[in-house]
Amino acid sequence: MTHDTDRNLQLFQRAQKVIPGGVNSPVRAFKAVGGTPRFVSRAQDAYFWDANGKRHIDYIGSWGPMILGHGHPAVLEAVQKAILDGFSYGAPTEREVELAEVILALVPSMDMVRLVSSGTEAGMSAIRLARGATGRSKILKFEGCYHGHADALLVKAGSGLATFGNPTSAGVPSEVVQHTIVLEYNNIPQLEDAFTMHGKELACLMIEPIAGNMNFVRASQPFMQRCRELCTLHGALFVFDEVMTGFRVALGGAQSVYAKLIPGFEPDITVMGKVIGGGMPLAAFGGKRAVMEQLAPLGPVYQAGTLSGNPVATACGLATLREIRKPGFYEALGARTQRLMAGIKGAADEVDVSFSVDSEGGMFGFFFFDTLPQNYAKVMTTDNKRFNTFFHGMLDRGVYFAPALYEAGFLSAAHTDADIDETIAAAMDVFKLL
Ligand SMILES: *Cc1c(COP(=O)(O)O)cnc(C)c1O
Repeated sequence: MTHDTDRNLQLFQRAQKVIPGGVNSPVRAFKAVGGTPRFVSRAQDAYFWDANGKRHIDYIGSWGPMILGHGHPAVLEAVQKAILDGFSYGAPTEREVELAEVILALVPSMDMVRLVSSGTEAGMSAIRLARGATGRSKILKFEGCYHGHADALLVKAGSGLATFGNPTSAGVPSEVVQHTIVLEYNNIPQLEDAFTMHGKELACLMIEPIAGNMNFVRASQPFMQRCRELCTLHGALFVFDEVMTGFRVALGGAQSVYAKLIPGFEPDITVMGKVIGGGMPLAAFGGKRAVMEQLAPLGPVYQAGTLSGNPVATACGLATLREIRKPGFYEALGARTQRLMAGIKGAADEVDVSFSVDSEGGMFGFFFFDTLPQNYAKVMTTDNKRFNTFFHGMLDRGVYFAPALYEAGFLSAAHTDADIDETIAAAMDVFKLL
Protein backbone atom coordinates (compact mmCIF):
# COMPACT_ATOMS: atom_id res chain seq x y z
CA MET A 1 0.00 0.00 0.00
CA THR A 2 1.36 3.42 -0.92
CA HIS A 3 1.28 6.48 1.25
CA ASP A 4 -1.52 7.93 -0.89
CA THR A 5 -3.84 5.04 -0.14
CA ASP A 6 -2.80 4.05 3.40
CA ARG A 7 -5.25 5.91 5.63
CA ASN A 8 -3.78 4.33 8.82
CA LEU A 9 -0.41 5.84 7.96
CA GLN A 10 -1.89 9.22 7.03
CA LEU A 11 -3.82 9.35 10.32
CA PHE A 12 -0.78 8.28 12.31
CA GLN A 13 1.32 11.04 10.75
CA ARG A 14 -1.42 13.59 11.42
CA ALA A 15 -1.84 12.31 14.98
CA GLN A 16 1.87 12.56 15.75
CA LYS A 17 1.73 16.31 15.12
CA VAL A 18 -0.91 16.92 17.78
CA ILE A 19 -0.77 14.00 20.25
CA PRO A 20 2.51 12.79 21.82
CA GLY A 21 3.50 9.69 19.86
CA GLY A 22 0.19 9.93 18.02
CA VAL A 23 -1.66 7.96 20.72
CA ASN A 24 -3.47 8.50 24.00
CA SER A 25 -2.02 5.38 25.67
CA PRO A 26 1.52 4.23 24.86
CA VAL A 27 1.09 0.57 23.86
CA ARG A 28 -1.24 1.61 21.03
CA ALA A 29 1.71 3.16 19.21
CA PHE A 30 3.19 -0.21 18.06
CA LYS A 31 6.57 0.94 19.39
CA ALA A 32 7.48 -2.60 20.53
CA VAL A 33 6.60 -4.27 17.23
CA GLY A 34 7.22 -1.47 14.74
CA GLY A 35 4.94 -0.48 11.88
CA THR A 36 1.82 1.62 11.69
CA PRO A 37 -0.89 1.39 14.34
CA ARG A 38 -4.32 0.54 12.99
CA PHE A 39 -6.80 3.38 13.42
CA VAL A 40 -10.19 1.87 14.13
CA SER A 41 -13.17 3.25 12.26
CA ARG A 42 -15.82 0.89 13.65
CA ALA A 43 -16.28 -2.45 15.40
CA GLN A 44 -18.98 -5.09 15.52
CA ASP A 45 -19.06 -8.50 17.25
CA ALA A 46 -15.54 -10.01 17.15
CA TYR A 47 -14.23 -7.61 14.50
CA PHE A 48 -13.02 -4.10 13.94
CA TRP A 49 -12.41 -2.31 10.69
CA ASP A 50 -9.41 -0.04 10.33
CA ALA A 51 -9.15 3.25 8.45
CA ASN A 52 -8.34 1.35 5.24
CA GLY A 53 -11.57 -0.61 5.57
CA LYS A 54 -9.72 -3.82 6.43
CA ARG A 55 -11.43 -6.24 8.82
CA HIS A 56 -9.53 -7.71 11.79
CA ILE A 57 -10.49 -10.45 14.22
CA ASP A 58 -10.06 -8.58 17.49
CA TYR A 59 -8.31 -10.45 20.33
CA ILE A 60 -7.79 -7.30 22.39
CA GLY A 61 -11.35 -6.10 22.83
CA SER A 62 -10.27 -2.71 24.21
CA TRP A 63 -7.72 -4.58 26.42
CA GLY A 64 -10.37 -6.67 28.08
CA PRO A 65 -13.67 -4.85 28.58
CA MET A 66 -15.49 -6.11 25.47
CA ILE A 67 -16.32 -9.58 26.80
CA LEU A 68 -19.56 -9.68 24.80
CA GLY A 69 -17.87 -8.47 21.62
CA HIS A 70 -18.59 -5.09 20.06
CA GLY A 71 -22.09 -3.65 19.74
CA HIS A 72 -23.96 -6.31 21.71
CA PRO A 73 -27.66 -5.48 21.09
CA ALA A 74 -28.76 -5.57 24.75
CA VAL A 75 -25.88 -3.34 25.84
CA LEU A 76 -26.44 -0.95 22.96
CA GLU A 77 -30.11 -0.64 23.88
CA ALA A 78 -29.33 0.04 27.55
CA VAL A 79 -26.80 2.73 26.66
CA GLN A 80 -29.07 4.41 24.10
CA LYS A 81 -31.91 4.49 26.62
CA ALA A 82 -29.68 5.89 29.39
CA ILE A 83 -28.28 8.65 27.21
CA LEU A 84 -31.75 10.13 26.65
CA ASP A 85 -32.04 10.78 30.40
CA GLY A 86 -28.82 12.81 30.57
CA PHE A 87 -25.08 12.12 30.52
CA SER A 88 -24.02 13.04 34.04
CA TYR A 89 -25.61 14.60 37.11
CA GLY A 90 -23.02 14.68 39.90
CA ALA A 91 -25.76 13.39 42.19
CA PRO A 92 -26.58 9.79 43.16
CA THR A 93 -28.73 7.50 40.98
CA GLU A 94 -30.57 4.23 41.48
CA ARG A 95 -28.45 2.56 38.81
CA GLU A 96 -25.26 3.00 40.89
CA VAL A 97 -26.93 1.24 43.80
CA GLU A 98 -28.08 -1.57 41.53
CA LEU A 99 -24.60 -2.00 40.02
CA ALA A 100 -23.02 -2.06 43.49
CA GLU A 101 -25.53 -4.71 44.58
CA VAL A 102 -24.80 -6.86 41.53
CA ILE A 103 -21.03 -6.63 42.01
CA LEU A 104 -21.26 -7.50 45.71
CA ALA A 105 -23.53 -10.47 45.00
CA LEU A 106 -20.99 -11.85 42.52
CA VAL A 107 -17.85 -11.18 44.58
CA PRO A 108 -18.62 -12.25 48.16
CA SER A 109 -15.28 -11.05 49.63
CA MET A 110 -16.62 -7.49 49.27
CA ASP A 111 -19.25 -6.01 51.60
CA MET A 112 -19.14 -2.52 50.10
CA VAL A 113 -17.84 -1.03 46.89
CA ARG A 114 -17.07 2.43 45.55
CA LEU A 115 -17.34 3.23 41.85
CA VAL A 116 -14.70 5.30 40.06
CA SER A 117 -13.80 5.95 36.41
CA SER A 118 -10.55 4.07 35.70
CA GLY A 119 -8.51 1.15 36.96
CA THR A 120 -5.68 3.54 37.78
CA GLU A 121 -7.97 5.57 39.99
CA ALA A 122 -9.32 2.43 41.67
CA GLY A 123 -5.83 1.04 42.38
CA MET A 124 -4.52 4.35 43.65
CA SER A 125 -7.54 4.78 45.94
CA ALA A 126 -7.22 1.21 47.24
CA ILE A 127 -3.64 1.92 48.30
CA ARG A 128 -4.68 5.12 50.08
CA LEU A 129 -7.49 3.23 51.80
CA ALA A 130 -5.13 0.43 52.90
CA ARG A 131 -2.69 2.98 54.30
CA GLY A 132 -5.46 4.93 56.02
CA ALA A 133 -7.10 1.83 57.48
CA THR A 134 -3.86 0.33 58.83
CA GLY A 135 -2.03 3.54 59.73
CA ARG A 136 1.02 2.09 57.94
CA SER A 137 2.96 3.45 54.95
CA LYS A 138 4.79 0.63 53.18
CA ILE A 139 3.28 -1.30 50.29
CA LEU A 140 4.48 -4.42 48.55
CA LYS A 141 4.06 -5.25 44.87
CA PHE A 142 5.55 -7.64 42.32
CA GLU A 143 7.73 -7.04 39.31
CA GLY A 144 5.71 -7.28 36.09
CA CYS A 145 2.37 -6.54 37.75
CA TYR A 146 0.73 -3.36 36.50
CA HIS A 147 -1.69 -1.55 38.75
CA GLY A 148 -2.25 1.60 36.75
CA HIS A 149 0.00 4.64 36.53
CA ALA A 150 -0.29 6.16 40.01
CA ASP A 151 3.13 7.42 41.19
CA ALA A 152 3.62 4.98 44.08
CA LEU A 153 2.95 2.02 41.77
CA LEU A 154 5.27 2.95 38.89
CA VAL A 155 8.18 1.14 40.45
CA LYS A 156 10.69 -1.50 39.47
CA ALA A 157 12.70 -3.68 41.79
CA GLY A 158 15.62 -2.16 43.67
CA SER A 159 19.00 -3.82 43.88
CA GLY A 160 18.18 -5.89 46.96
CA LEU A 161 15.49 -6.62 49.49
CA ALA A 162 16.72 -3.99 51.92
CA THR A 163 16.41 -1.30 49.27
CA PHE A 164 13.16 0.08 48.00
CA GLY A 165 12.08 0.37 44.42
CA ASN A 166 13.24 2.76 41.73
CA PRO A 167 10.73 4.82 39.76
CA THR A 168 10.03 3.38 36.28
CA SER A 169 8.93 6.76 35.01
CA ALA A 170 10.52 10.18 34.90
CA GLY A 171 8.52 12.60 36.98
CA VAL A 172 8.17 10.22 39.92
CA PRO A 173 10.46 11.44 42.72
CA SER A 174 12.33 8.63 44.48
CA GLU A 175 10.86 9.87 47.79
CA VAL A 176 7.40 8.99 46.47
CA VAL A 177 8.33 5.36 45.92
CA GLN A 178 10.49 4.96 49.02
CA HIS A 179 7.63 3.10 50.69
CA THR A 180 7.10 0.69 47.78
CA ILE A 181 8.82 -2.70 47.95
CA VAL A 182 9.02 -4.69 44.72
CA LEU A 183 9.51 -8.46 44.77
CA GLU A 184 9.75 -11.25 42.21
CA TYR A 185 6.44 -12.91 41.35
CA ASN A 186 6.07 -16.51 42.53
CA ASN A 187 9.20 -16.31 44.73
CA ILE A 188 8.16 -17.60 48.18
CA PRO A 189 11.53 -17.31 50.03
CA GLN A 190 11.86 -13.67 48.95
CA LEU A 191 8.29 -12.97 50.06
CA GLU A 192 8.98 -14.50 53.47
CA ASP A 193 12.17 -12.45 53.88
CA ALA A 194 10.33 -9.25 53.00
CA PHE A 195 7.65 -9.90 55.62
CA THR A 196 10.26 -10.76 58.22
CA MET A 197 12.00 -7.48 57.51
CA HIS A 198 9.03 -5.14 56.91
CA GLY A 199 5.87 -7.04 57.92
CA LYS A 200 4.85 -4.75 60.78
CA GLU A 201 5.15 -1.64 58.60
CA LEU A 202 3.21 -3.01 55.62
CA ALA A 203 -0.17 -1.45 54.83
CA CYS A 204 -0.82 -3.91 52.02
CA LEU A 205 0.40 -6.38 49.48
CA MET A 206 -1.01 -5.77 46.00
CA ILE A 207 -1.07 -8.46 43.35
CA GLU A 208 -2.41 -9.28 39.92
CA PRO A 209 -3.58 -12.83 40.72
CA ILE A 210 -3.18 -13.89 37.10
CA ALA A 211 -0.73 -11.34 35.79
CA GLY A 212 -1.94 -10.12 32.42
CA ASN A 213 0.54 -7.30 32.13
CA MET A 214 3.45 -9.71 31.71
CA ASN A 215 1.46 -11.67 29.11
CA PHE A 216 -0.18 -14.40 31.21
CA VAL A 217 1.52 -15.63 34.36
CA ARG A 218 -0.42 -17.28 37.17
CA ALA A 219 0.46 -16.90 40.81
CA SER A 220 1.15 -20.48 41.89
CA GLN A 221 -1.22 -21.93 44.47
CA PRO A 222 1.48 -22.20 47.22
CA PHE A 223 2.65 -18.65 46.49
CA MET A 224 -0.89 -17.26 46.69
CA GLN A 225 -1.55 -19.18 49.91
CA ARG A 226 1.65 -17.82 51.46
CA CYS A 227 0.74 -14.24 50.46
CA ARG A 228 -2.59 -14.66 52.25
CA GLU A 229 -1.05 -16.24 55.37
CA LEU A 230 1.67 -13.62 55.71
CA CYS A 231 -0.75 -10.70 55.27
CA THR A 232 -3.01 -12.13 57.96
CA LEU A 233 -0.09 -12.83 60.29
CA HIS A 234 1.34 -9.32 59.97
CA GLY A 235 -1.91 -7.35 59.78
CA ALA A 236 -1.33 -6.17 56.21
CA LEU A 237 -4.27 -5.96 53.81
CA PHE A 238 -4.23 -8.27 50.80
CA VAL A 239 -5.25 -6.28 47.73
CA PHE A 240 -6.34 -8.19 44.63
CA ASP A 241 -6.03 -6.18 41.45
CA GLU A 242 -8.77 -7.76 39.36
CA VAL A 243 -9.06 -4.88 36.90
CA MET A 244 -8.24 -7.35 34.15
CA THR A 245 -9.29 -10.69 35.66
CA GLY A 246 -12.56 -9.54 37.28
CA PHE A 247 -15.58 -10.96 35.40
CA ARG A 248 -13.05 -12.04 32.76
CA VAL A 249 -11.52 -15.31 33.99
CA ALA A 250 -14.68 -16.37 35.86
CA LEU A 251 -17.93 -14.81 37.06
CA GLY A 252 -16.42 -14.46 40.55
CA GLY A 253 -13.06 -13.25 39.22
CA ALA A 254 -9.64 -14.79 39.86
CA GLN A 255 -10.40 -14.93 43.58
CA SER A 256 -13.09 -17.54 42.87
CA VAL A 257 -10.52 -19.56 40.89
CA TYR A 258 -8.10 -19.53 43.86
CA ALA A 259 -10.91 -20.21 46.34
CA LYS A 260 -11.35 -23.56 44.57
CA LEU A 261 -7.68 -24.38 45.24
CA ILE A 262 -7.39 -22.84 48.72
CA PRO A 263 -10.46 -23.42 50.93
CA GLY A 264 -11.83 -20.19 52.42
CA PHE A 265 -9.49 -18.02 50.36
CA GLU A 266 -10.37 -14.35 49.90
CA PRO A 267 -8.57 -11.02 49.54
CA ASP A 268 -9.25 -8.02 51.81
CA ILE A 269 -9.67 -5.42 49.06
CA THR A 270 -10.55 -6.00 45.40
CA VAL A 271 -9.86 -3.57 42.58
CA MET A 272 -11.94 -3.87 39.41
CA GLY A 273 -12.32 -2.17 36.04
CA LYS A 274 -12.46 -3.12 32.37
CA VAL A 275 -15.34 -5.65 32.10
CA ILE A 276 -17.50 -3.96 34.75
CA GLY A 277 -17.87 -0.94 32.46
CA GLY A 278 -18.46 -2.98 29.31
CA GLY A 279 -16.30 -0.48 27.37
CA MET A 280 -17.33 2.70 29.22
CA PRO A 281 -15.09 4.46 31.77
CA LEU A 282 -16.00 2.61 34.96
CA ALA A 283 -13.97 0.92 37.69
CA ALA A 284 -14.41 0.07 41.35
CA PHE A 285 -12.72 -0.95 44.56
CA GLY A 286 -14.32 -2.71 47.48
CA GLY A 287 -13.76 -4.85 50.54
CA LYS A 288 -14.89 -5.57 54.05
CA ARG A 289 -17.30 -3.10 55.66
CA ALA A 290 -14.90 -2.02 58.44
CA VAL A 291 -12.25 -1.10 55.88
CA MET A 292 -14.61 0.57 53.40
CA GLU A 293 -16.18 2.68 56.15
CA GLN A 294 -12.83 4.45 56.47
CA LEU A 295 -13.67 6.25 53.19
CA ALA A 296 -15.07 9.80 53.06
CA PRO A 297 -17.78 10.84 53.84
CA LEU A 298 -17.91 8.19 56.60
CA GLY A 299 -14.23 8.07 57.47
CA PRO A 300 -10.98 10.02 57.22
CA VAL A 301 -9.67 8.60 53.88
CA TYR A 302 -10.50 11.09 51.13
CA GLN A 303 -11.59 9.96 47.68
CA ALA A 304 -13.96 11.56 45.14
CA GLY A 305 -14.84 11.90 41.45
CA THR A 306 -16.94 14.21 39.26
CA LEU A 307 -17.91 11.42 36.86
CA SER A 308 -17.86 8.52 39.36
CA GLY A 309 -20.85 6.21 38.92
CA ASN A 310 -21.68 7.92 35.64
CA PRO A 311 -25.27 7.07 34.57
CA VAL A 312 -24.35 6.00 31.03
CA ALA A 313 -21.36 3.94 32.16
CA THR A 314 -23.38 2.20 34.87
CA ALA A 315 -26.10 1.37 32.32
CA CYS A 316 -23.44 -0.17 30.07
CA GLY A 317 -21.87 -2.07 32.97
CA LEU A 318 -25.18 -3.37 34.27
CA ALA A 319 -26.29 -4.58 30.84
CA THR A 320 -22.92 -6.31 30.37
CA LEU A 321 -23.08 -8.00 33.77
CA ARG A 322 -26.65 -9.15 33.02
CA GLU A 323 -25.42 -11.03 29.94
CA ILE A 324 -22.41 -12.67 31.58
CA ARG A 325 -24.56 -13.99 34.45
CA LYS A 326 -26.54 -16.18 32.04
CA PRO A 327 -26.04 -19.91 32.70
CA GLY A 328 -23.17 -21.49 30.79
CA PHE A 329 -21.60 -18.17 29.71
CA TYR A 330 -18.13 -18.83 31.18
CA GLU A 331 -18.16 -22.53 30.31
CA ALA A 332 -18.69 -21.64 26.64
CA LEU A 333 -16.20 -18.75 26.68
CA GLY A 334 -13.56 -20.83 28.46
CA ALA A 335 -13.98 -23.78 26.10
CA ARG A 336 -13.67 -21.56 23.04
CA THR A 337 -10.58 -19.85 24.43
CA GLN A 338 -9.02 -23.24 25.14
CA ARG A 339 -9.81 -24.38 21.61
CA LEU A 340 -8.07 -21.31 20.21
CA MET A 341 -4.97 -21.86 22.35
CA ALA A 342 -4.83 -25.61 21.66
CA GLY A 343 -5.19 -24.93 17.93
CA ILE A 344 -2.35 -22.41 17.81
CA LYS A 345 -0.17 -24.65 19.97
CA GLY A 346 -0.93 -27.58 17.63
CA ALA A 347 0.11 -25.47 14.64
CA ALA A 348 3.38 -24.53 16.37
CA ASP A 349 4.06 -28.19 17.22
CA GLU A 350 3.58 -29.23 13.59
CA VAL A 351 6.44 -27.01 12.47
CA ASP A 352 8.55 -27.55 15.63
CA VAL A 353 8.30 -24.03 17.00
CA SER A 354 8.83 -23.87 20.80
CA PHE A 355 5.52 -22.63 22.13
CA SER A 356 3.44 -22.75 25.29
CA VAL A 357 -0.08 -21.51 26.04
CA ASP A 358 -2.35 -20.91 28.99
CA SER A 359 -5.82 -19.50 29.52
CA GLU A 360 -8.51 -19.02 32.13
CA GLY A 361 -12.05 -18.11 31.11
CA GLY A 362 -11.79 -15.57 28.31
CA MET A 363 -8.19 -14.47 28.98
CA PHE A 364 -5.17 -16.13 27.36
CA GLY A 365 -1.44 -15.94 26.85
CA PHE A 366 1.15 -17.62 24.64
CA PHE A 367 4.93 -17.74 24.75
CA PHE A 368 7.76 -18.76 22.45
CA PHE A 369 9.07 -21.07 25.18
CA ASP A 370 8.68 -24.82 25.81
CA THR A 371 7.35 -24.20 29.31
CA LEU A 372 5.28 -21.42 30.85
CA PRO A 373 7.34 -18.68 32.54
CA GLN A 374 6.81 -17.96 36.26
CA ASN A 375 8.03 -14.38 36.50
CA TYR A 376 8.75 -11.17 34.64
CA ALA A 377 12.47 -11.75 34.14
CA LYS A 378 11.74 -14.96 32.26
CA VAL A 379 8.97 -13.38 30.14
CA MET A 380 11.45 -10.68 29.14
CA THR A 381 13.87 -13.26 27.69
CA THR A 382 11.36 -13.85 24.86
CA ASP A 383 12.91 -13.61 21.40
CA ASN A 384 11.52 -10.22 20.33
CA LYS A 385 12.13 -10.80 16.66
CA ARG A 386 10.13 -14.02 16.71
CA PHE A 387 7.26 -12.37 18.49
CA ASN A 388 7.27 -9.40 16.11
CA THR A 389 7.34 -11.63 13.02
CA PHE A 390 4.42 -13.58 14.45
CA PHE A 391 2.51 -10.42 15.36
CA HIS A 392 2.91 -8.78 11.95
CA GLY A 393 2.24 -12.04 10.11
CA MET A 394 -1.05 -12.40 11.95
CA LEU A 395 -1.90 -8.73 11.47
CA ASP A 396 -1.35 -9.04 7.71
CA ARG A 397 -3.80 -11.94 7.77
CA GLY A 398 -6.42 -9.88 9.59
CA VAL A 399 -5.82 -11.18 13.12
CA TYR A 400 -5.20 -8.52 15.78
CA PHE A 401 -3.24 -9.69 18.83
CA ALA A 402 -1.68 -7.34 21.38
CA PRO A 403 1.19 -5.34 19.81
CA ALA A 404 3.61 -6.25 22.63
CA LEU A 405 4.77 -9.59 23.98
CA TYR A 406 4.01 -8.69 27.59
CA GLU A 407 0.25 -8.35 27.12
CA ALA A 408 -2.51 -10.92 27.55
CA GLY A 409 -5.16 -11.62 24.91
CA PHE A 410 -8.93 -11.75 25.20
CA LEU A 411 -11.73 -13.70 23.59
CA SER A 412 -15.34 -12.51 23.55
CA ALA A 413 -18.63 -14.33 23.41
CA ALA A 414 -18.96 -13.02 19.84
CA HIS A 415 -15.95 -14.98 18.54
CA THR A 416 -17.27 -17.88 16.46
CA ASP A 417 -15.74 -21.26 15.72
CA ALA A 418 -15.12 -19.98 12.19
CA ASP A 419 -13.12 -17.02 13.62
CA ILE A 420 -11.04 -19.43 15.64
CA ASP A 421 -10.44 -21.73 12.67
CA GLU A 422 -9.38 -18.74 10.57
CA THR A 423 -6.97 -17.66 13.33
CA ILE A 424 -5.44 -21.13 13.66
CA ALA A 425 -4.98 -21.40 9.88
CA ALA A 426 -3.28 -17.98 9.83
CA ALA A 427 -1.01 -19.04 12.71
CA MET A 428 -0.02 -22.17 10.77
CA ASP A 429 1.04 -20.01 7.79
CA VAL A 430 2.98 -17.62 10.01
CA PHE A 431 4.80 -20.32 12.03
CA LYS A 432 6.18 -21.65 8.74
CA LEU A 433 7.92 -18.29 8.26
CA LEU A 434 9.70 -18.46 11.63
C1 LIG B 1 -5.75 -2.07 32.91
C2 LIG B 1 -5.25 -2.33 34.26
C3 LIG B 1 -5.15 -1.31 35.22
C4 LIG B 1 -5.38 0.14 34.89
O1 LIG B 1 -6.67 0.41 34.47
P1 LIG B 1 -6.96 1.73 33.59
O2 LIG B 1 -8.45 1.74 33.45
O3 LIG B 1 -6.21 1.55 32.32
O4 LIG B 1 -6.46 2.89 34.38
C5 LIG B 1 -4.80 -1.65 36.51
N1 LIG B 1 -4.55 -2.92 36.84
C6 LIG B 1 -4.62 -3.93 35.95
C7 LIG B 1 -4.36 -5.32 36.40
C8 LIG B 1 -4.96 -3.66 34.63
O5 LIG B 1 -5.00 -4.66 33.75
